[in-house]
Amino acid sequence: MEKERYDGEVVDCLTLILPTVGCSWDSCYMCGFTLESDRKATQKSIFHGFLKAVESKKAEILKIFTSGSFFDEREVSRETREKIYRKALELGFRKIVVESRPEFIDEKVAEEIKNSGMEIEVGIGVETSNDLYREYLINKGFSFDEFVRASKILKGVAKVKAYLLLKPPFLTEREAVEDVLKSILDVKRYVDVISLNLMTVHRKTVIERIWRKGVYRPPWLWSAVEILKRADAYIICDPVGGGKKRGPHNCFRCDGDVVREIKLFSLYQDKKVFKKDCECFELWKLSMDAEELTDLFIFP
Ligand SMILES: [Zn+2]
Repeated sequence: MEKERYDGEVVDCLTLILPTVGCSWDSCYMCGFTLESDRKATQKSIFHGFLKAVESKKAEILKIFTSGSFFDEREVSRETREKIYRKALELGFRKIVVESRPEFIDEKVAEEIKNSGMEIEVGIGVETSNDLYREYLINKGFSFDEFVRASKILKGVAKVKAYLLLKPPFLTEREAVEDVLKSILDVKRYVDVISLNLMTVHRKTVIERIWRKGVYRPPWLWSAVEILKRADAYIICDPVGGGKKRGPHNCFRCDGDVVREIKLFSLYQDKKVFKKDCECFELWKLSMDAEELTDLFIFP
């Protein structure tokens, strides 16, 4: 259970992770969610798991994450999805939040959402508007155009959320910050909300391998603060793993406070929440500049 903003108020949100057979793509360098999937999952077990999780809980918003794509028939069939909408409606949820890769979003899905009787928000992990970064640094397997196509289909029937990733490997801290700021400008006309996701080093991923070799550092929380302060868009950010070695972090002393400020910002969109100061802020600024000097990897 967590708090979310809805219709101008802060309400309760129940988050479920439904183990399905897993993501069809399953090749992104940072993703370890396949460890959470269940090869033996059936539509029956998925719906049963859903029922068990929702029946005793009261909340306004229901987030359903499958560690893949909610609209992928292989993971959750249309029949199961429709059973989920009906049950959520019956239990009084006001909104469902799901995630999907763009290739699973078509006119039929738009029709299904329209007929669900629920307000539905679809998160799409576009990560960056830079096709080269998405392809070579993340291995995402779809283009910005495909994201735009999917958001246009959803427009009018669903809310669209874009996930942006800070920071893919092989970028300096500054390049990563600038990439997110540029991506915000590029995606904001297609979406209702942007979710800034800060890289966390998951087990058994390419990112973990380069992190262990000492050539990757998860983003500074100061970088996230810089983006949230500079951007002009509706942006939320939940720094998962914030203040941990594998997650986005500063100096480990100020992290708890900065994570709290970022979460507060997400709820109220008020830049005045950023008050925390720490000695490591200067170190962050220094490394933003110094890293550029040693950056020999020139990406097109
Ligand atoms: Zn600090």
